[in-house]
Amino acid sequence: MTAILKNLIGGEWVDGAGITRNINPSNTNDVVGEYARADKAQTEKAISAAKAAFPAWARSTPQERYDALNRISIDILSRKEELGKLLAREEGKTLPEGIGEVARAGQIFAFFAGEALRLTGEKGPSVRPGLEVEISREPLGVVGMITPWNFPIAIPAWKIAPALCYGNAVVFKPAELVPGSAHALSEIIARSGIPAGVFNLVVGSGSVVGQTLLEHPDVAAISFTGSVSTGRKIAQACVLSTPMKKFQLEMGGKNPLIVLDDADLKVAVECAVNGAYFSTGQRCTASSRLIVTAGIHDRFVEALTERLKGLSVDDALKAGVHVGPVVDQSQLDQDLRYLKIGKDEGAKLHWGGELLNRETPGYYLQPALFTEASNAMRIAREEIFGPVAAVIRAKNYEEALAIANDTDFGLASGICTTSLKYASHYKRNSEAGMVMVNLPTAGVDYHVPFGGRKGSSYGAREQGSYAREFYTTVKTAYTNPG
Ligand code: ADP
Repeated sequence: MTAILKNLIGGEWVDGAGITRNINPSNTNDVVGEYARADKAQTEKAISAAKAAFPAWARSTPQERYDALNRISIDILSRKEELGKLLAREEGKTLPEGIGEVARAGQIFAFFAGEALRLTGEKGPSVRPGLEVEISREPLGVVGMITPWNFPIAIPAWKIAPALCYGNAVVFKPAELVPGSAHALSEIIARSGIPAGVFNLVVGSGSVVGQTLLEHPDVAAISFTGSVSTGRKIAQACVLSTPMKKFQLEMGGKNPLIVLDDADLKVAVECAVNGAYFSTGQRCTASSRLIVTAGIHDRFVEALTERLKGLSVDDALKAGVHVGPVVDQSQLDQDLRYLKIGKDEGAKLHWGGELLNRETPGYYLQPALFTEASNAMRIAREEIFGPVAAVIRAKNYEEALAIANDTDFGLASGICTTSLKYASHYKRNSEAGMVMVNLPTAGVDYHVPFGGRKGSSYGAREQGSYAREFYTTVKTAYTNPG
């Protein structure tokens, strides 16, 4: 029996009020670990530990913050194979994807180590004679982080690193499906020299741990990534709490990838395969709507189908696997439900969609491609969050653009074309926060802003130096030097 891994509260590793069992989706007989589940009282303790630790951390020097964040980065990067394997084992993305994600987390901490040294203010003349005006940024206080299971280390990293960089204290609530990566990251942070209580881990459910963070008056802000329905609840709770909380929401996507007649077919197929199916399609930036103009439609569908036939869907830890399993039974049920909805709506299930048997019991689903879909269908409007994409035929660029923008979401969008004219027009007119030309909709840099429009995002952007908009509050100070 392995030890039950604990929560981190006020610098102490403490037992929980229950146990979360972490199951490998590639092999449901494999228990990755057992994790102490925090309750309401422990979450409150974590919040008060963070509150107590906050003032000293808020006054810490940029050098201290640089040193701690840099140590975290070095530690993560030096263990990327081991942590990548843990991540792939508990979440189901392939080993190279898992290692890549861990490396990304390390790079994010390195970036924010540097940002700690770059925080400056402004000073200027007043409109009133003789007075001085200074504008500076200060940390918010205790920030609660509520994160999803699909990027178990990168998403926590892109919230925790800027929060600490700008002098906030953190209470981190990871998704229950991926406590292993959260625990490993927390251990690294705990060893970084950051004072006890500045960073706390509470593993537990949204309805208990999450809700306690949302209701507690000592939590100044919430950074959330997850579903639209939970995001809505979080927004309501943050506005209703006294004092109101600052909040930032990253939610779903229904991201379009346009393929124009003049596209390089190979590039277009690679963008579609990567964007729609890698990471088992479980990315908020996944290309789930493939909008293809008439002149290339049949060639594109044929080439994409050939490419799908060559994908290996298997245990995430096996060498050479392209697509790992779906994360759990409930997500698999959702994927299968949408496959039925698509067929019932009149789309053609052109390829895939079957459950697959592999050596070990797991949630294996053949990547699925719908054709003859319309943008009005539910499979084109609602986020499925699985390896399912729908091809929508468009007459020309103008119609493709209109279809791409006809969505409640606006996270990422892409176009495959060799025309500078259409590429430029699309960059200007796409109603998404992130636009890709001849690239998959998924896959972004960490030193520039990440976020969307419409129903995909709410509040300040994440990542890059834009992250400071959320993790700091601006102070304007006036002086009469006399
Ligand atoms: P997904 O299951 O796609 O990751 P969710 O929105 O259900 O999306 O979950 C994202 C995160 O939000 C998880 O950490 C989950 O535990 C948390 N969560 C779910 N419901 C609530 C809630 N009512 N209050 C606070 N957090 C919640």
